[in-house]
Amino acid sequence: MKLHVLHCGTIRVSEAVPYGNAIDLKNTARQLGAPERARVTLPVCAYLIEHPRGLVLVDAGWDRAISPRGVYDAEAVRRYLPAHLAALYRPCLPEGMAIREQLAARGIRPEDLCCVVLTHLDPDHVTGLRQLSGARRVVLSEDEYFWSCRTVYKLRQPQALWIDLPIERQFYRGSSLGPNRWAIDVFGDGSVVMVNTPGHTDGHASVLVRSGRRFVVLVGDAAFSPRNWREMITPGYGFSRSMQLKSLQWLRTMAEDPDCAAALCSHDPEVPPQTIEF
Ligand SMILES: [Zn+2]
Repeated sequence: MKLHVLHCGTIRVSEAVPYGNAIDLKNTARQLGAPERARVTLPVCAYLIEHPRGLVLVDAGWDRAISPRGVYDAEAVRRYLPAHLAALYRPCLPEGMAIREQLAARGIRPEDLCCVVLTHLDPDHVTGLRQLSGARRVVLSEDEYFWSCRTVYKLRQPQALWIDLPIERQFYRGSSLGPNRWAIDVFGDGSVVMVNTPGHTDGHASVLVRSGRRFVVLVGDAAFSPRNWREMITPGYGFSRSMQLKSLQWLRTMAEDPDCAAALCSHDPEVPPQTIEF
């Protein structure tokens, strides 16, 4: 199996987002009002998998409209996102980095994708979907979709950004995997499994990609780098610290497994674009 790590632009967020170690009003204020010097630039990853069933994409990054000229454009961001999310993310999408542009550079059309798997509905993971109409399936957990009705998620995940897109929802089922032992086996053969790793959102999925004994864990936003599970520091952006900790424990076990080829977080600046064969 071949897995390509793609960088689909950046976010420039408060240091409290990856390593806040609490979810409280203090951290929220730190994140929304962070001055430039207290911010870090993090990549926004998507993953292209050359799977025996076809091309699988995990997450879709930012929509080109967020950064029409390929530079940080505060006005374009404010047109696209509510003010509090614009202040949180400060996104940028350089030319050629939008998911559709990167696929086109590889000669791949959206209709060539047999499946797009979404880890969760935050805008830095789903807005690139707008440019992928024609993909054969887009899969999301029913739990993520359902809980998006909660006020906290309405603020985080404005429905207008994705509600009209053709998204297939699947329920998590009992599984041997994950802190809740809940998972969605996308092809029914254990090769691509969405494992519920809640804490960042209720329905959040990390994606386990398996080839024989070897596997890669696409962590999503359950952690921002291995530092989170090595030091058990929880991210400051999420809905439940206790669930974040349970998810980090499970991720640590998976990352330390000798058959784990890589455990990759969506916003880890230490993970450059690369191809992993396993
Ligand atoms: Zn994210």
